[in-house]
Amino acid sequence: MVCRKCGSENVQIQAVNKIKLKTQHKGILWWILIGWWWVFFKWLFLTIPALFFKIFSHKKQRAVNKVVSVAQCQTCGARWEVRKIAIE
Ligand SMILES: [Zn+2]
Repeated sequence: MVCRKCGSENVQIQAVNKIKLKTQHKGILWWILIGWWWVFFKWLFLTIPALFFKIFSHKKQRAVNKVVSVAQCQTCGARWEVRKIAIE
């Protein structure tokens, strides 16, 4: 493994458990200004087609938890993801 940034071969690979946060808390001002119509449009244009897609496809649900192999260069400190392994 060679560093993408500096070309050094002194790269360490480690497994990092990445947990995606499902919900983000937004401020009250966000809800008053953008929230209500944004959620409505998101629901209209994303949720409904997604529901239809779910009905007609028999694919498994997406994994939320995944293990990511992260390589870190010991010379310059650059970090990048090597591969992703989904856990179901
Ligand atoms: Zn480097």
